[in-house]
Amino acid sequence: MERKICIAIDGPAGAGKSTVARLVASRLGYRYLDTGAMYRALTWQALQNGLDFVDEPALVNLARTADIQLLPTADGSPQVLINGQDVTLPIRSQQVSQHVSLLAKVPGVRREMVQRQRQLAAGGGVVVEGRDIGTRVLPQAELKIFLTASPRVRAARRAAELADRGEAVDVAQLTEEIARRDAMDASREVDPLRPAPDALYLDCSQMSIAEVVEYIVDRARGVK
Ligand code: C5P
Repeated sequence: MERKICIAIDGPAGAGKSTVARLVASRLGYRYLDTGAMYRALTWQALQNGLDFVDEPALVNLARTADIQLLPTADGSPQVLINGQDVTLPIRSQQVSQHVSLLAKVPGVRREMVQRQRQLAAGGGVVVEGRDIGTRVLPQAELKIFLTASPRVRAARRAAELADRGEAVDVAQLTEEIARRDAMDASREVDPLRPAPDALYLDCSQMSIAEVVEYIVDRARGVK
């Protein structure tokens, strides 16, 4: 029987990680785990509950008690439920995007999420996408990719994604938001965004999604 490995895909916002991770998982018949969706769901719930994003104990309590479900769908991107409520669409809003890094830098929140993510990834045959997958969640992953692209390309990709969903976007504002989020994700004390020492660093500014998928699938077949 073919061995099923773990593939970690990390990188900054808008590099195309979700699309790539989803397609790689589908090509290999693997599961796809979008860890950003978990931080986003918690952020949505925190906003809903009117929590203050500097109130760390309240955020940690939320992370410990929230029931988060990521259900597979036909198109591969997860249906996201928190405490039974479907938040698949609202977690992608600008409001959530603007607050998520504040919640994600809280050490106790991360501890809880990392533990859950390890459980969800157990058994292999999974593509896990996030910021700290290769460095913290699955340091033993057989294949680690750090996917990035120039800030201009990333803002354009995020803008196209939002426009697809019918959201009006201001590219200049989006560029600023992405830069702010990346700076916060890369400078936080616990598990900042950075490539694992053994990650393959892939700048996909000049590559199509299909080329990136092919590259990763080839490498995955090489390590199996
Ligand atoms: O991947 P996505 O852009 O949906 O992630 C949203 C945010 O969640 C990131 O900007 C980051 O603050 C946080 N995140 C994280 N660790 C992960 C995945 C996401 O801190 N593994």
